[in-house]
Amino acid sequence: MLEAKAFENVKNQIGFCGIWCGSCVVGNGVLRELTKRYEEILKGYGLEEWAPKDFDFKEFMKGLASIQAMPSCQGCLKGDGKPNCEIRACASNKSIADCSECNQPTACKNIETLQKMRTGARQANLLVKTENVDRQELIDKWTAELKSIWPCCILFLPGK
Ligand code: SF4
Ligand code: SF4
Repeated sequence: MLEAKAFENVKNQIGFCGIWCGSCVVGNGVLRELTKRYEEILKGYGLEEWAPKDFDFKEFMKGLASIQAMPSCQGCLKGDGKPNCEIRACASNKSIADCSECNQPTACKNIETLQKMRTGARQANLLVKTENVDRQELIDKWTAELKSIWPCCILFLPGK
């Protein structure tokens, strides 16, 4: 599996807000892998020779190289994600694994932020835990689902 190390690092991390880091392209290696493949296609097709005159091929390729040089996000449970996250602080103080285990959800002061994070994540095709269910079973189910979710599915395509 390509970018297997990055995926393995985030595979078992469900953030305190419920976002599954395993489904995030910044953490699971898909962003880099996709960029690498795209770069190979552009080179293979010799885009530099026939791109529109106002297209700055060199600058564009520099951007693609820069994305590939970005380190993977280590995941919410390993301190990456949103700095000083109020949701992480709140759930940690309650000694719960994520907000779906909260015993006072109706009194939540972070509800707007929580909903914004979850909605934004879903719009970007990330998977989000909102029910107090078995985490490992959910991760196993999601890992199987990831094989058909674009662009994460490229993690499971045969490599070179
Ligand atoms: S840092 Fe905060 S918003 Fe980001 S995944 Fe963790 S709990 Fe969610
Ligand atoms: S109060 Fe809100 S942010 Fe804190 S654990 Fe409960 S649901 Fe999460």
